[in-house]
Amino acid sequence: MPPVTPEPDSTLAIQKRQRALVDLLSAWVAIPSVSTDPKYAEDVHRSAEFLGRAAVDAGFQRAEVWETEGLPALFAERLEDPALPTVLVYGHHDVQPVDPVSEWLKAPFEALERDGELLGRGSSDDKGQLAMHLEAVRGILDARGHLPINLKLIAEGEEENGSGHFDGLLRAHREELRADVVVVSDTGMLGEDLPSLTIALRGNDYWELRVQTADTDMHSGVYGGAVLNPIQVLVEMLSKLHDGDGHIAVPGFYDDVVELDAATREELAAVPFDETRFLANVGAVPGGEQGFTSLERRTARPTLELCGIWGGYEGEGAKTVIPARAGAKLSSRLVPQQDPARITRVVGEQLRRLTPEGVRAEFKLITSGRWALTSSDHPSVAAAADVVEGVWGRPPLFTREGGSIPPVTSLGEVLEAPCVLFGVALPDDHFHAPNERVVLAQLFRGMEALGRLWDRYGAMGREALTAAPG
Ligand SMILES: [Zn+2]
Repeated sequence: MPPVTPEPDSTLAIQKRQRALVDLLSAWVAIPSVSTDPKYAEDVHRSAEFLGRAAVDAGFQRAEVWETEGLPALFAERLEDPALPTVLVYGHHDVQPVDPVSEWLKAPFEALERDGELLGRGSSDDKGQLAMHLEAVRGILDARGHLPINLKLIAEGEEENGSGHFDGLLRAHREELRADVVVVSDTGMLGEDLPSLTIALRGNDYWELRVQTADTDMHSGVYGGAVLNPIQVLVEMLSKLHDGDGHIAVPGFYDDVVELDAATREELAAVPFDETRFLANVGAVPGGEQGFTSLERRTARPTLELCGIWGGYEGEGAKTVIPARAGAKLSSRLVPQQDPARITRVVGEQLRRLTPEGVRAEFKLITSGRWALTSSDHPSVAAAADVVEGVWGRPPLFTREGGSIPPVTSLGEVLEAPCVLFGVALPDDHFHAPNERVVLAQLFRGMEALGRLWDRYGAMGREALTAAPG
């Protein structure tokens, strides 16, 4: 497919939107849409309404506030022609709390523009990236009066508070949200001169394990030596979950893991990753599975980690007691094609096999989420990579995140569409921290890239855009 050069009229019209983008974002930052604190609930509503008005003003045909049992999302759409590809853009309009306020250079809900940056809560995560989408749309419409694709927008209002109602919202509105491709703009790039596209996120399972060996705590002089100790039982069970090489010793755990092929390992090796600094930042000791690099271990390989452990006496001085109970929290990061429910089953079965006779053990799932992956040669990602190269001047690196973004996995799963993670935030944007900022040049380039990306998608057509990579 030869690259489609956007008509200069739309690029120029988009470039003219730079001032408008800053103004729109500044006005929106002033609405303190903090989703974790109930005292801001009214502001989160105001933020959804603000976005709805801005979307219609930019050229979306309709916008609706979608209420949930928690805080509202905003949906908007502009439908041009059912024969054209449909893209759903995901972002969120809620923000993180601002404490400690005293560390901000200016009040967190008053935008401060300086040195090519805009400071303010939500400037980068994620209002700035949504404002970038709106002004790109307005630029194309100013130049041509129509979009080359059908465009839908869903902005969640609870992303910073766990996205508790998002999956249900997606299922309830599945038909209205239908799209050929989902473009998520809530991630970032490695650097201003190191453009990148995120192509994978890990999933996770989180469990609790409790063991009980007696009905009551026991005197260690009277019972010691004659009864099983639950802490001993627990640590022996946990110690058998990995072998000496750091591999997870649970039968079936790796069955569905897609082994890293040479191309994927090369893709990962190309990502600048300073292992020494990564470890020195937290003063940690390296560990993990033999045969893999640190970057592979933390992004493309599954884990089984012990996150907490308790049992017995922990206070001052001595208490000569053998406890009745002990427990632990465990979690797993999952990679393609592992099924979180199956992993819970095989880990549970292994723990049952490791439980000594007569010991009561309880293993329960606390949370679970799927991984997400869109291959770098999927046509929707390949087109995005071309566009990024055109705007940033060098081809993007493909990165994998070790963490999980639950709404992204929900979007892929419920809508059964590929997800392209196109985000322009930078690692030092102070996400969730005081003095959150966005680099305006990143937003401006992002706006231009979106104009070109919609042209590419429109020119490719639905069939080529959604074809599985060969
Ligand atoms: Zn975000």
